[in-house]
Amino acid sequence: MKRLQLSPNFYLDEFTRSQTAARHDIDMSVTPGSEVYRNLKLLAELALQPAREALGPIFISSGYRPLLLNQKIGGSATSAHVHGLAADIAVSGHSPLLVARWFENSGIAFDQVIHEFGQWVHVGIVPEGRVPRQQLLTAVKTAKGTAYLYGIHSMPEALRRAG
Ligand SMILES: [Zn+2]
Repeated sequence: MKRLQLSPNFYLDEFTRSQTAARHDIDMSVTPGSEVYRNLKLLAELALQPAREALGPIFISSGYRPLLLNQKIGGSATSAHVHGLAADIAVSGHSPLLVARWFENSGIAFDQVIHEFGQWVHVGIVPEGRVPRQQLLTAVKTAKGTAYLYGIHSMPEALRRAG
């Protein structure tokens, strides 16, 4: 089957791969021209392609999440992933902290960039016509659960601030 290309370096299938979806037989198909397709294409063009060009190959660990998949993995009920407006990424050779800081200084009109647990970076956008919040957060696990702090921080710094 021909791969659907969203931007020079990103293909639709990179956003629809999920072991959990496969295990639960969840339909991950995205119709070209649909709202989710248009959002994923905007995400690839606006946010991920510039990062790819600056930092190198990007691995998408989670992209589009149909509602059922989002529930299965315990995602937030208002998750941008449900609409194809967010991706969790890692860049080989660069720490998630560095990747998050790169977005911070990129000038890209992202809605939300979250440095998550020192493990990956969540990049969210808004659909065309909406104003992005340009929100920067760091997620850290504490004894009381997950804490979200404003700004991009290293894990030791986030733990110190959350403590
Ligand atoms: Zn995410």
